[in-house]
Amino acid sequence: MTVIVPVLADQLSLDLASLGSVGPAEAVVLMMEVSGEAGAPRHHQKKIGFLFSAMRHHAEALRAAGWRVDYVAIDDAENSQTLTGEVARAVARHKASRVVSVEAGCWRLLAEQKTWGEVLADDRFLVSRDWFADWAAGRKRLLMEDFYRLIRKRTGLLMDGAEPAGGQWNFDAENRKPPAKGMAYPPAPQFAADAVTEEVLTLVAQRFGNHFGDLRPFALAVTRAQALECLSDFTRTRLAQFGDYQDAMVAGEDGMFHSQLSALINCGLLGPLEVCEAAEAAWKAGTAPLNAVEGFIRQIIGWREYVRGIHWIAGPDYEARNHLGATRALPDFYWTGDTDMRCLAEAVRATKQHAHAHHIQRLMVLANFALLAGIDPAQVSEWCLIVYADAYEWVETPNVIGMGLFADGGLMASKPYAAGGAYINRMSDYCRGCVHDVKMRTGPGACPFNSLYWDFLARNREILGKNHRLLRMYDGWDRFDVAEQARIEAQAAGFLAGLGA
Ligand code: FAD
Ligand code: SF4
Repeated sequence: MTVIVPVLADQLSLDLASLGSVGPAEAVVLMMEVSGEAGAPRHHQKKIGFLFSAMRHHAEALRAAGWRVDYVAIDDAENSQTLTGEVARAVARHKASRVVSVEAGCWRLLAEQKTWGEVLADDRFLVSRDWFADWAAGRKRLLMEDFYRLIRKRTGLLMDGAEPAGGQWNFDAENRKPPAKGMAYPPAPQFAADAVTEEVLTLVAQRFGNHFGDLRPFALAVTRAQALECLSDFTRTRLAQFGDYQDAMVAGEDGMFHSQLSALINCGLLGPLEVCEAAEAAWKAGTAPLNAVEGFIRQIIGWREYVRGIHWIAGPDYEARNHLGATRALPDFYWTGDTDMRCLAEAVRATKQHAHAHHIQRLMVLANFALLAGIDPAQVSEWCLIVYADAYEWVETPNVIGMGLFADGGLMASKPYAAGGAYINRMSDYCRGCVHDVKMRTGPGACPFNSLYWDFLARNREILGKNHRLLRMYDGWDRFDVAEQARIEAQAAGFLAGLGA
């Protein structure tokens, strides 16, 4: 009896539930490169190169571990270029009696998988979809902090018996330092492309060369051993300062003290728990302080698990939500980086070069601008899914629709993450080199974020005006005299009218 075990591009873990449930005697592991997934939407070239190379290396790791692997390359002549087509061909080829797969991270693919055969839960996450749904049921507010504390207790991470290590659950208040002058940011490891990667890069250039983003230089980790090297390097060289400078941004510094591990965790080359345990070990060894380690672990066992839970309880129409009725088209500069707003130009440049930007660039620059300018959430969501190597629907949609754009009406966030230029100026060095004046609200040369911020509040007063967390901001707006309010609105309208789509 042969059982086909499809392993998707983000399921590159040797301990996948389907492998455990079938076993190497019966299983034929099916791995598929198809343009139906890589080309729709048209993913960043580096994202495709990363995933195809990691898949090909993972196929070798599976074979070395004793699995039979049937690998369908993108340029196989018979490739139907769809996952369902390839599963059907594999069933016929191997005269298989069953197909067993692990649930994908998006509604569309999950529905498709159910037509293949048995679908198992993805136990690489710390909580199951059902567990999260039970936790969420009947709660008025789905506070991430409540969820996080439960998971801390459940995993025992940073726990001192029943109490949090250091007597505090959350050290966020210590983690908001602006960048310090003259600070050095240790770079993440770079890996030379081997023959497998080179072959993939050539294929990607041929087939997807007109997609967004720089394919080369390509120095990403693509194997489990390289992923472990990245983890170890992070805990040795950047974790200690991760907490303090978590929200900071510096021109030309694309990684800062961030781990840059998201793409490796999300595709399965690293497990979330092993990453947290490595960070905890650094704290225990005295090489990283508690505020940094707690802040880092919270991102993974807190935010990462929480957004996944939100994705599944929110349902398949989550991506279409548009609480604020934002309809403006995504400006061209999200693709070209061609804007004189230095903060945005820097964030797009990093995205184009690395298929990565760090959290504050994504949240407080790219999403913040889209929120203030009233850009259609579905277009922002699709852009993020395309451009980031760590992007899959389960993690991208809650971050964009919920956290970034408040398009879910507050299911995730209690207020929109809206900020004017002062925030960006406080947390970065961008404004010093920008043609716009961050201190000006109106007039020629004023920072667009300032008028857009106030205009956003005024424009959405009917929907947001009663949010108690925004009352202080609305007080601020009301304190402007009518003439100043009119100037701000005219400035924002003038700017938005010139925004190319
Ligand atoms: P670090 O800053 O080092 O954080 C450590 C780890 O915590 C990350 O590797 C990641 O696994 C996890 N993490 C941190 N924040 C989040 C979060 N909000 N949601 C889920 N996991 C988190 N993350 C993705 O993995 N995929 C996405 O498609 C994605 N899209 C985003 C879009 C927007 C608009 C925003 C605001 C955030 C998005 N994030 C996404 C979350 C976050 O920005 C990235 O996880 C982070 O920048 C990855 O870089 P890093 O590995 O250096 O993270
Ligand atoms: Fe961005 Fe405004 Fe600062 Fe320029 S001045 S970098 S547009 S926040």
